[in-house]
Amino acid sequence: MLSTMQTSPLLVREILLHGQRIYGNSTVVTYEPDSCRRTTFDEVAHRAERLASGLTEIGVSPGDRVATLLWNTQEHLECYLAIPSMGAVLHTLNLRLTPEQLAFVINHAQDKVVIADRTTLPLLARVFDQLTTVEHVIVVGDTDTNELPDDRNFRYEDLLTLTRTPFVWPDLDESQAAAMCYTSGTTGDPKGVVYSHRSTYLHSLASAAGNVFGVNEHDIVLPVVPMFHANAWGLAYTSWLSGSDLLLPGRYLQAEHLARMIESERPTLAGAVPTIWNDLLGYARTHSTDLSSLRLVACGGSAVPRSLIEGYESDFGVRIIQAWGMTETSPLAAVALPPKGSAPEDEMYWRSKTGRVTAGVEARLIDDSGNEVPWDGKSIGEIQVRGPWITGAYYGVDATDKFADGWLRTGDVAHIDPRGYIQITDRTKDVIKSGGEWISSVDLENALMGHPEVFEAAVIAVPDAKWEERPLACVVRNPGSTIGPDELRTFLDSQVAKWWIPERWAFLETVPKTSVGKFDKKALRALYARGDIE
Ligand code: ADP
Repeated sequence: MLSTMQTSPLLVREILLHGQRIYGNSTVVTYEPDSCRRTTFDEVAHRAERLASGLTEIGVSPGDRVATLLWNTQEHLECYLAIPSMGAVLHTLNLRLTPEQLAFVINHAQDKVVIADRTTLPLLARVFDQLTTVEHVIVVGDTDTNELPDDRNFRYEDLLTLTRTPFVWPDLDESQAAAMCYTSGTTGDPKGVVYSHRSTYLHSLASAAGNVFGVNEHDIVLPVVPMFHANAWGLAYTSWLSGSDLLLPGRYLQAEHLARMIESERPTLAGAVPTIWNDLLGYARTHSTDLSSLRLVACGGSAVPRSLIEGYESDFGVRIIQAWGMTETSPLAAVALPPKGSAPEDEMYWRSKTGRVTAGVEARLIDDSGNEVPWDGKSIGEIQVRGPWITGAYYGVDATDKFADGWLRTGDVAHIDPRGYIQITDRTKDVIKSGGEWISSVDLENALMGHPEVFEAAVIAVPDAKWEERPLACVVRNPGSTIGPDELRTFLDSQVAKWWIPERWAFLETVPKTSVGKFDKKALRALYARGDIE
């Protein structure tokens, strides 16, 4: 029997129109060190309409890819709203890719237009003669475009005034592509994920839900996570749909700037990877920073050390909530809010978990022999997920090994407890197999970063004649510290199994980071292979 319900398509256009109609007075602030730029949802929506008109005028048609090479700014938000709503596909480019990777993803996605700004244009100019499909470059802000080879360039503000014809948002099919994003390539070549209107809409509703971030009109949301990193974890669309004010940090992601914008603009909710929060914690402790406006800090993208969660709680009363996901999962798939009835003294235990499976996402654990393992909090397997905002393929590549019977193989090794709390122990590519048993690099890192003199710690597997592999701990000390392996081995003694404790230690100035700010273990392995660390 069919339902009696209507079947209105779930479109980004509806997100745009809802935010404009219902929350037109909500604000969008783009941070600048001297004076922030301020506007309203209503103004952003009108500019999005004019952007769609301008793009149509220069030949962008439904299905065309329009790429952005932008920081988190008002203009980037306008692109987020306009490009999918006009039926084109928003392709968010990671501006920290190498020139080769950047050219690769632009050509692979067949981008027709790239929207850049003064700071990212030089990067684009370097690869421009390798681009095979780009017809126009749009430049935000006041800068000359002489670096580009021809006259098919426009200033963003000129594009907005190219035509006075009112733009009518088209009716679209909800399963059409709305946006695309390439994985940051932490463990291989970047691969394209294409989000639909439907997946974007459902993900936005889910991330506003109380069991996720509970985003609402009273919030001021600060997405520090770049809008090119898995859609800023959905925070841009979710805030727009919920009417929360947005504070966009532009390119000012350094601790000093974040501290200033948090003090002056008083956001209530912010999201970023652990390395960003770790930098800010160190800064805030030494510069008596007021972080009291933050009711919730979303943190994920890599394992969040318990010491980081505790540090924010004890020193600033700020609540870090860990989340887990991937570009392939839109990205939200699990959030580590404590369960009902948990005692206050267990709060840290729950919040240090990777996350509890979110409604809308199904998860299972599969062991090396292909068998499903139980959610008993100890049996280990690869997490596989499926659901309406989980990708079922990669764009333009055959990657059947990444899927199994309609489930996405995440490449993350974990156990899950009976209540659905995931604990990731490693990525399949980072696991350490010592004497036939697994050592969790994530647990070792977590324990090491709990030492007050350790700023960062990343652990990789290195070959060992006797045990096959052993952990190598790469440690960055806090300024002034001279701590060495003996003290750290003693420190680990009470926290992890004895046979896990590394014999090999390297003390570094910094742990190399990926383009989205995660520990770059590929780079560490390369340093080891070259003999630069041992
Ligand atoms: P890339 O795959 O290029 O690193 P993503 O940002 O999509 O780009 O990374 C997703 C991966 O990040 C996950 O598969 C997982 O390994 C890791 N990750 C994300 N959140 C967490 C978390 N809370 N704890 C541990 N690992 C995480």
